[in-house]
Amino acid sequence: MSDRLEKPGYPLNPFSRAEGLWSLAEDFLKMPTTYKNFIDGEWVESSSGKTFPNINPANTDEVIGYFQQSNVEDTRRAIEAAVRAQEKWAKIPAPKRGAILYKAAQMVANRVDELGEILTREEGKTIGEGKAEVLRASQILSFFGGEGDRFLGDAVPSPRENVFVFTMRKPLGTVSLITPWNFPIAIPAWKIAPALVSGNTVIFKPASLAPLTSLKLVEILHEAGLPKGVLNYITGPGSTVGLEMVTNKAIKGVSFTGSCAVGQGIYQHTQQNMVRTQLEMGGKNPTIVLADANLEEAVNITINGAFFSTGQRCTATSRVIVEEPILDKFTQLLIEKTKALKVGNGLDPSVQMGPLVDETQLKTVLSYIEIGKKEGATLLLGGNRLTGKEYDKGYFVEPTIFKDVKPTMRIAQEEIFGPVLAIMPAKNFDEALEIANNVQFGLSASLCTTNLSRTFEYANRIEAGVVNVNLPSAGVDYHVPFGGMKDSSSGHREQGRVAIDFYTELKTVYIKY
Ligand code: NDP
Repeated sequence: MSDRLEKPGYPLNPFSRAEGLWSLAEDFLKMPTTYKNFIDGEWVESSSGKTFPNINPANTDEVIGYFQQSNVEDTRRAIEAAVRAQEKWAKIPAPKRGAILYKAAQMVANRVDELGEILTREEGKTIGEGKAEVLRASQILSFFGGEGDRFLGDAVPSPRENVFVFTMRKPLGTVSLITPWNFPIAIPAWKIAPALVSGNTVIFKPASLAPLTSLKLVEILHEAGLPKGVLNYITGPGSTVGLEMVTNKAIKGVSFTGSCAVGQGIYQHTQQNMVRTQLEMGGKNPTIVLADANLEEAVNITINGAFFSTGQRCTATSRVIVEEPILDKFTQLLIEKTKALKVGNGLDPSVQMGPLVDETQLKTVLSYIEIGKKEGATLLLGGNRLTGKEYDKGYFVEPTIFKDVKPTMRIAQEEIFGPVLAIMPAKNFDEALEIANNVQFGLSASLCTTNLSRTFEYANRIEAGVVNVNLPSAGVDYHVPFGGMKDSSSGHREQGRVAIDFYTELKTVYIKY
């Protein structure tokens, strides 16, 4: 500070000097905060001495904060703290563990506006989506708070005389939770809450692109009464911190959400150590529109699925499969309504689609648009990075629609994770289902129809873990199972009561009396 005041030419009269101090104070207040890891109940710096920035994707001039670039040593410290805390935490009765989650749920709900804004600034989704996600995190904490009261086992009759049989749940121990950037508070909440209520202690690593909203969640859980060491938060590269979290011998369970490539790599390690592993990964989700559907509703459903959250949802619609008799009408209305979408900084409440999360994601999306063109699909709408005025400061891309997309094309097979939609014609319901299932993924799907028989037929035959009818492929409730089939998932469901299954061991107890 004094350096700046003593610079030659810097005004020295008392009034101007006071102004200089004021402007320095202003600069200081605007400086981004450096956030720390939370290990063993304390906020601590990484032993690396390094940090990395968290940047607003709608305005890259804004550094939201700096985060610890942690290393293997920090990760081991966090794991050791979690292991030390586990036995004591598991001894606390489940209803009391749940009460802490319940209190945290209220605290999150009370801060929806503030946390929603942080979420939008770090991830880019619209402020409406940001606040809705924060509210979702609160609902999840509240639901699992209630699971502390239930924490069910079975009591069953034995075929043997005077033998009583029951099952009881025990925690796994210390678990590693690794999350992506696209739902930076809901996904951490839906992993942390069932892990904790089950009596596990946690080491949690958020995605490097959006670590602040979940830091606030950890702060709140601590304030709600979690004992030290029970929940440890650590930031840093997946390739070092994440790798240690999945290979360390003290870890008894790994829950990961993210890309297929990383998930499959994690599985190689955890399989070797026979560690229980939950993987939720990519999708290539279809919306099927049958000729009997309500056309306007089907278009709205498709737009919501494909473009909201900038298409950066694992459950986003990336293929719309339309019965031929209504193909032209549907396409026309889809283009008309998509053109009207307002793209911009998600903090502006009138904006309907925010930016992509970073430059890598932008390049990936633009490269898939080029691939689509080269493969012979017809670009009907969009296809470009948005430029000029505020767009120059962010990673904005136009909502993009291709038609004449063949099932074998890469844009019909691979996850793009952006606002790019492929229209695919189908002769009839059976062909639509065949196209829908003809991908490696099986996360979510949607069907637009007014036909009850086809609804049930589709529910039976569609290869997806999340099955919607007359609703967008994206958007789920918080109290029912969530997860994919095929390469989208390792099969252990998250959310709802079944989430507890992953985080617990069942003991079967036989008592002769
Ligand atoms: P990534 O797979 O790149 O990263 C996910 C997390 O894994 C991040 O925290 C990342 O850390 C970490 N990580 C990276 N490398 C390793 C490693 N070698 N070992 C351990 N951890 C590692 O995914 P994205 O964050 O880009 O998220 C987008 C993906 O997530 C999409 O494919 C999407 O479909 C999927 N997703 C799936 C959902 C589902 O429920 N099925 C829900 C939401 C998203 P870092 O950030 O530091 O690289």
